[in-house]
Amino acid sequence: MVAVRRRLRGADPDGAAGGRADRRRDLDRGRHPGLPRAAGPPETVFDISCFRRDPLPFYDFTRDFLGAIDRIEPTFSHRFLAALEREGRLAAVVTQNIDSLHQKAGSRRVISVHGDYWTSRCLNCGRLFDLEHMKRAAFEAPAPHCPCGGLIKPDVVFFGEPVLGLEEAAAEVAAADLLLVLGSSLAVYPAAFLPSYATGEVVVINRGEVGLPPGPRRYFVDAELDAYLAEVAAVLRGGGSAPPLS
Ligand SMILES: [Zn+2]
Repeated sequence: MVAVRRRLRGADPDGAAGGRADRRRDLDRGRHPGLPRAAGPPETVFDISCFRRDPLPFYDFTRDFLGAIDRIEPTFSHRFLAALEREGRLAAVVTQNIDSLHQKAGSRRVISVHGDYWTSRCLNCGRLFDLEHMKRAAFEAPAPHCPCGGLIKPDVVFFGEPVLGLEEAAAEVAAADLLLVLGSSLAVYPAAFLPSYATGEVVVINRGEVGLPPGPRRYFVDAELDAYLAEVAAVLRGGGSAPPLS
């Protein structure tokens, strides 16, 4: 882990993408226990055909969610990854979280495979809207509509929609000297397949079991993410001793 080289890719909490089980947890709760739950079953609230028929359950969730993410601050791990990017040591973050906390922490190159609320678009004409617009529009009408009359949908990937940026994510992983997999059990595809593209070292930092077999140049750390990365940050600053790898 101390071998942070020229370029470093971070694949963050929950690795990269996920299947239905991961999505359910992700959308239902977000990564933070403080985030709201959807009022209805995620399978219908976040289903694209249900949304087109009746967007209100999703927008009820969205109003709660937008209020909550405004109150939540990025964690140490979010800020650490943003700092590494500013220093030119991190090339990209791949995440399946939809909370935009990486962007809030200052990360610039974020591949959000499940999309996020950073942008929204009209389902009719494709016009783009930013997060600030959504924050207003979601509270001005039960479901925001475009001037053309079309329904607006945040660029969050719903059930029934393809995940985003997987090829781009795989290319970043393949080009990385070091892949960090942070806070992910790597149990669910397509998230789980990304480390197989790695050509450099892979360091997995996660509390609990991880669905990635041991292999050459693979290192596993069973630790609480923020605490462990704080130790790593101290080492990078030239103090402290290297935290253990297994
Ligand atoms: Zn439109």
